[in-house]
Amino acid sequence: MRILIIEDELDLANALARGLRQQGYAVDIAVDGARGWELGEVNDYDLLILDLNLPELDGLEVCSRLRASKPNLLVLILSARSRLSDKVTGLDVGADDYLTKPFHFEELVARVRALLRRDLRTREPILQVGDLKLDAATHTAWQGRRRLKLSRKEFGILDYLMRHPEEVISQEELIEHIWGEDVNLFTSSVRVHVHSLRRELGDSAKQPRYIETVVGQGYRLLTPGEDDR
Ligand code: CA
Repeated sequence: MRILIIEDELDLANALARGLRQQGYAVDIAVDGARGWELGEVNDYDLLILDLNLPELDGLEVCSRLRASKPNLLVLILSARSRLSDKVTGLDVGADDYLTKPFHFEELVARVRALLRRDLRTREPILQVGDLKLDAATHTAWQGRRRLKLSRKEFGILDYLMRHPEEVISQEELIEHIWGEDVNLFTSSVRVHVHSLRRELGDSAKQPRYIETVVGQGYRLLTPGEDDR
């Protein structure tokens, strides 16, 4: 799950990002409205946490622009504007939820979780590729009837690969979607997580049944042919 925070108070933005990353989300930050709008247009985020009083471009404007081009994007407004009319306006321009500052981090996380879960339930019930099944809303995955024991990152990688079966996915793409674009990360750590994911699946890099390494390009999740079912 990938989240964009648009917030000009850098300390708050960083604290939020840190907290949300600990919960397993990939998080990017923009500190003004124009940059936030740009990032929101270019990347595919699941959820936007949006301040309203922003330099360059007002939050409400960002919200209505992104609403128009990204219909699936969830928007949670986080603002010091606490009048009822502000909330109504925010929801009218397409926000899904509105939380006033000051707020408790636990409440923000609970609302983020609730929004994403509600959305996942309506958008995509359970992913299935071969004998692998994955429920992103409850963070569970199965191989046949066995429930897999996966770390957040392993789960994130499997989730992303299962959304793009048979496509070659580069390590950079995985980093971007699972860790966030500002994270400095060597592709070698992606390899480490893929290795442990394979081990949990009982898969081997040499004779892959699930995750194939495409040398110099990335990974591909195999869909089983009729023969090997
Ligand atoms: Ca602000």
